Amino acid sequence: MNKIEHIGIAVNSLQSAGKIYGKLLNTTIYKIEDVLSEGVKTAFLSAGPNKIELLEASNPDSPIAKFIAKKGEGIHHIAFEVDDIKAEMERLKGEGFVLLNDEPKLGADNKLVCFVHPKSANGVLIELCQELEPRIKSQESR
Ligand code: ZN
Repeated sequence: MNKIEHIGIAVNSLQSAGKIYGKLLNTTIYKIEDVLSEGVKTAFLSAGPNKIELLEASNPDSPIAKFIAKKGEGIHHIAFEVDDIKAEMERLKGEGFVLLNDEPKLGADNKLVCFVHPKSANGVLIELCQELEPRIKSQESR
């Protein structure tokens, strides 16, 4: 696994949380994206090389709505960048981690993602993400 790619924070409102984090980091949201498959609306801010992903539920059945109902707003997941998500998923399965999806799926910010169950990781939801573009480029250049 490479570096932490971003930290995901569950919020009630992207608009108000976006303002607060914008002030905190002295920046503005650089990208807003609906991830329909996950029932979330995401907003990204950066602080130097680091990214914060704010997550708002886009429907009442969204995992973010359930998370906030149970725990309130707060840190939702930590995402790690990986070069080969399938290989990393196999490795983690072999180590006994419970993955929340069997196949990588398309997440926010042009990434293939997979989540590791928080029960497997001391209560923290872990996201693996692989940037899509470099891979496509490297395949093109072959
Ligand atoms: Zn994320």
